[in-house]
Amino acid sequence: MRARQRLGQHFLADPRIARRIVEAADLHPEDVALEIGPGRGALTRFLSERAARVLAVEIDEVLVRQLAGRWPKEKVTLIAGDILKLNLTELLEREGLSAPIRVFGNLPYNIATAILQHVLRFRAHLRDMTVLLQREVADRILSPPGSKSYGYLSILVQYYCEGQRLFTLPPSAFRPPPKVFSTVVHLRVRERPAVDVPDEAFFFELVSALFAERRKTILNNLKRAAMRLRVDDLASALQRIGLDPRRRAETLALEELAELARVLFHARAHALGDATGHGEPTI
Ligand code: SAM
Repeated sequence: MRARQRLGQHFLADPRIARRIVEAADLHPEDVALEIGPGRGALTRFLSERAARVLAVEIDEVLVRQLAGRWPKEKVTLIAGDILKLNLTELLEREGLSAPIRVFGNLPYNIATAILQHVLRFRAHLRDMTVLLQREVADRILSPPGSKSYGYLSILVQYYCEGQRLFTLPPSAFRPPPKVFSTVVHLRVRERPAVDVPDEAFFFELVSALFAERRKTILNNLKRAAMRLRVDDLASALQRIGLDPRRRAETLALEELAELARVLFHARAHALGDATGHGEPTI
């Protein structure tokens, strides 16, 4: 059986597992599903039985040709292409679809986080995602503050989604078997992000700066970041919200991060507004 490792092809071996994944998402007959990487159609089969429409994006043209004709075109639309380049807004417009979309996929491991980040850009169109991921990636997405796997990815996903671990599968569930365990995760896209931030780009810039070196304190990471904040503004901002500058980013809950973003955003706006050009130390 041909499988292209470069494309993360590990096909679900047992239709009962494929069915279990689709059933876990509680699809309704009017739902529209977007499937990422249908492969040989293990999930597509059950999606097509339960959803009104399935849009399936597969990069491997050989697999697309094999799948063609298996389902009526009105039911399953096969799209040959790279999910990372897909403009979902344009696709939905072209297909005359507007309903909130249900996303599914046994994601290629090597690019699973890039896929999640890309698809989340289109979150306004999405209801939820039911995806199979390498177990460690699922841990990073779902982990709470204070745990080793908590980081940028956890914050990004938890900011936009409410996540739940459904079940874990051993390598033997796939052909060929991968080297890792896989976890099925359900991510419900929130109507509003989990916390209020003044500016999302600033918030994520801040989070990435805070986690630049996990073992460093938040103050040290912030000092090194190119966020155009004055060092004394930083210290007083942390003090104002009662945040110990010696803490590490991995201990900060979403609400604390948002509070930090709010206070630093205002400090920066203030500093930029007040800029006198007299060489104040900024970072
Ligand atoms: N859904 C099938 C299953 O569960 O048996 C296949 C899952 S396999 C882990 C991942 C699938 O994603 C493969 O069919 C692979 O060719 C496809 N794929 C890999 N990279 C892709 C990309 N950038 N865009 C779309 N599909 C991709």
